[in-house]
Amino acid sequence: MFTSIFREGNHPDDYSRLTYKKLLEEVCKFANVLKSKGIKKGDRVAVYMPMILEGVVTLLACARIGAVHSLVFAGFSSDSFSERIMDCQARVLVTADGVWRGEKHLALKSICDQAMDKCAKNGHNVEHCIVVSHLGRVTSPTGVQQNQSNKIPMREGRDCWWQDLIAEASSSCYPEWMQAEDPLFMLYTSGSTGKPKGVLHTTGGYMIYAATTFKYVFDYKPSDVYWCTADIGWITGHTYIVYGPLANAATSVLFEGIPFYPDNDRFWSVVQKYKVTQFYTAPTAIRALMKFQDDFVLRHNLSSLRVLGSVGEPINPEAWLWYYKLVGKERCSIVDTFWQTETGGHVLTPLPGATPMKPGSAAFPFFGVQPVLLDESGREIEGEGEGYLVFKRPWPGIMRTLFNNHDRYETTYFSKFPGYYCTGDGARRDGDGYLWVTGRVDDMLNVSGHLMSTAEVESVLTEHNAIAEAAVVAKPHPVKGECLYCFVTTIDHAVFDEKLLTELKKLVRERIGPFAQPDVIQNAPALPKTRSGKIMRRILRKIAVNDRNVGDVSTLADSTVVEQLFATRPANA
Ligand code: AMP
Repeated sequence: MFTSIFREGNHPDDYSRLTYKKLLEEVCKFANVLKSKGIKKGDRVAVYMPMILEGVVTLLACARIGAVHSLVFAGFSSDSFSERIMDCQARVLVTADGVWRGEKHLALKSICDQAMDKCAKNGHNVEHCIVVSHLGRVTSPTGVQQNQSNKIPMREGRDCWWQDLIAEASSSCYPEWMQAEDPLFMLYTSGSTGKPKGVLHTTGGYMIYAATTFKYVFDYKPSDVYWCTADIGWITGHTYIVYGPLANAATSVLFEGIPFYPDNDRFWSVVQKYKVTQFYTAPTAIRALMKFQDDFVLRHNLSSLRVLGSVGEPINPEAWLWYYKLVGKERCSIVDTFWQTETGGHVLTPLPGATPMKPGSAAFPFFGVQPVLLDESGREIEGEGEGYLVFKRPWPGIMRTLFNNHDRYETTYFSKFPGYYCTGDGARRDGDGYLWVTGRVDDMLNVSGHLMSTAEVESVLTEHNAIAEAAVVAKPHPVKGECLYCFVTTIDHAVFDEKLLTELKKLVRERIGPFAQPDVIQNAPALPKTRSGKIMRRILRKIAVNDRNVGDVSTLADSTVVEQLFATRPANA
């Protein structure tokens, strides 16, 4: 069997295989297309792609000519996307006409059109938009094949179909020689304040780290079939769908669909179909699938599985045990991999077959990584204890800078505790030395593994002209891990009603993306503030979970606000 990528479409009847030989040809062709559009070493290319082969080809084509890809998850809104295009000053954008996710249709090109219009209004012109004609070649969930591409408006002189350009391109492209420290790609991640951060990874260090962690953490062997269900739009997709597997010449599965279509056993039927040996997914997916009857799992032959991975957020022991027992039949290793966009690859993880597992613990550092727990005063905690999770020494895959903003890089990650890389997470070390990541210690939320800042949601809510002030906190959620609980203070005379709620939710969807939609929005005539005017989120977090154990409220300017908010929690809270 040749090394290949198995492409599994949204619909189970839609699948194909791409060998590495063919992949190289496609990459060279598209690299030549990019060159013909004037793209050269160091230029940024914006990418807004679904989980299709052209997504992988685009990233590798950029790498081949030394261009810096900046892929934005195709669930972000046009506003978020335009902000990112402008920040990295991309002149070329690569996308697809649209995609089906289960029975939902996403009009990607139209989102890109809106994003490009917004860029133009702000003085930045995207010169070329290359569009994969995808909808016409896949089975739609209704079973009717339609060539939707015909209906996509294409702007003369700017927009081109991928297929037309590829048809004329040469399949040989000599690679650009790169220095180890030359940039490979950038990927935006939310910052706890203000604009998203363009995390920059380099060619040598990132690749060696992606390759090494992939090989050891998944124990990949040449006859294996590896499958990571993440989206290519996140760092997990970059490192463990594209670069890590490719650098190991791994055979892997690229999946365009969702776990619930056409039925709730899709993951397990794909594992059986390709005899997957390593399966890598997120706790939020596991928790969503746990809700269904065991038979959805049991009806499939999962005996090929050897290693099961988890990524994106802490995995609760209940989900871990379900994964271990029902999916892994108590014979697979589970690797709970802790890492971040910034770390490039796994930094804390058990090694399969070598590390005795504890459900919910990311265990120990990967080779060369030196984790440390610090107390508030910056003192290292030895032995058992809990504190800030930081790293004492760099490793090859650590990001090198934030695009165009090295100062922010230093202040965000290295200034709180000089001499250490600060993850923004807390962790506990148990008596056996195992590390347990406890979650974010800054104002960040992790909704289904999507990281976002409370500040960015608050600023969107206050854009609404009926809202005077907003405060957002994370509330635990049984499937998503965390969800958004928002407190809003309306301006005088504004009415807090269903209409306002709908408008606020819509605004967040439009400005950030559907995944950021708040679960709860509470009317807060006043917010609990200190005398200096600082909102006490600690108290809001208690109100969100209806825990009256709020602790010391003596620093509040008006402590009656707290009781009022407890009394008026909405019915869906
Ligand atoms: P991102 O940069 O979007 O990949 O998000 C990174 C964040 O996700 C980390 O800072 C953690 O808060 C969380 N995270 C990722 N993997 C794990 C894990 N295995 N256990 C606990 N938290 C995790």
